Amino acid sequence: MRTVEEHQRVVAGLITMRPAMALPLSETLGLVLAADVAAPMSLPVFDNSAMDGYAVLASDIPVGTSAEHPVTLPVAEDIPAGRTDALTLKPGTAHRIMTGAPLPDGATAVVPVELTDAGTDTVEIRGTATEGQHLRRAGEDVTAGTTVLRAGQVITPAALGLAAALGLGELSVRPRQRVLVMSTGTELVSSGTALEPGQIYESNAVMLAAAVRDAGGEVVAAPMAGDDVEEFRAALAAHVGAHKAGVDLIITTGGVSAGAYEVVKDALGGDDQSVEFVKVAMQPGMPQGAGHVGAVPIITLPGNPVSALVSFEVFIRPALRAAMALPRTHRPVRAAVVTEQLTSPHGKRQFRRGVLDAEAGTVTSYGPPASHHLRWLASANCLVEIPEDVAEVDAGATVRVWDLSG
Ligand code: AMP
Ligand code: MG
Repeated sequence: MRTVEEHQRVVAGLITMRPAMALPLSETLGLVLAADVAAPMSLPVFDNSAMDGYAVLASDIPVGTSAEHPVTLPVAEDIPAGRTDALTLKPGTAHRIMTGAPLPDGATAVVPVELTDAGTDTVEIRGTATEGQHLRRAGEDVTAGTTVLRAGQVITPAALGLAAALGLGELSVRPRQRVLVMSTGTELVSSGTALEPGQIYESNAVMLAAAVRDAGGEVVAAPMAGDDVEEFRAALAAHVGAHKAGVDLIITTGGVSAGAYEVVKDALGGDDQSVEFVKVAMQPGMPQGAGHVGAVPIITLPGNPVSALVSFEVFIRPALRAAMALPRTHRPVRAAVVTEQLTSPHGKRQFRRGVLDAEAGTVTSYGPPASHHLRWLASANCLVEIPEDVAEVDAGATVRVWDLSG
């Protein structure tokens, strides 16, 4: 049997990083920058007002100006934000000006509207004005040419705001991995269709597609196929072929264990095929497969829903994130004290679903170890990792847990 680490290495070796590419800003949130970004221009772009008020020459407002000793100036211009003509302030006049509007040449201060009578023909100024007050100078935020974002940085809403303010339409990024998720099983039916006896609703493709997106990847399709080898091969080829731009990874579920109708194994496991089917010393998730279909890497996960998602967590998620240069490739691993006795099969790494109380530093296993108990998985917040050589964990012992919220 393969160890967990051995299979992790095989999977990580299959998934390769795509070349950096320029993408429109709207498609880059959460991706990693592939190149430094130098500001193509300065910000602010031009000197402008920081307040709604009046642009003046500070020297026109004598020291001691107040509500009791106001100064009245004629209002020569009205400058809303967006006015594009060049204006000059003549000494002894004021321009009414709004926040973000271009400062007229010659103005040296802005008096906030709250310190005036808000006049439009003349304005009564009721406070002093110091040179430079309430002005935003061109370039005081960003000087053209400065490196403002670094390669390797995750693109946040704020980073996008900055890029947009600099007039950039695209960013060079590590693109998302494009993943085809395919579930197998003749018993599977989509929601919305009434179940015949013996049928169940498909859940792995829905769950794994979400897990791919949650890991930062893109799902190109998440179809299902029955347990017929020819049908499965044809569906796989059709879905890969339908995505001319490319599929970077195929994930299948089901059809890889020891039964009589193991469609994935039967379709891809022959000597002439480049998918290797192995047993990994873990529970759940022992039957695994990995290789290529044509040039596309494929990971074949077991069909039991808990096995499928735990296998995704253990093998695919870290490799997928690494292939997008994303940080936090691995879930945070924490030490926690178990609240009850747990048993685990000797010789296998067990991943139990658990509820971690991070504050108390304790973990309680959640639901039975068998791999069809989806209900418990749905409300667990961690995986409890029990090593291969441990068959019993006493209450009060410390274990490693994978924090699924991290
Ligand atoms: P298999 O690995 O194909 O033998 O499937 C193992 C178990 O998981 C069986 O009970 C299947 O019905 C169930 N199963 C397999 N694939 C799915 C799926 N996509 N959605 C829900 N259950 C599934
Ligand atoms: Mg099956």
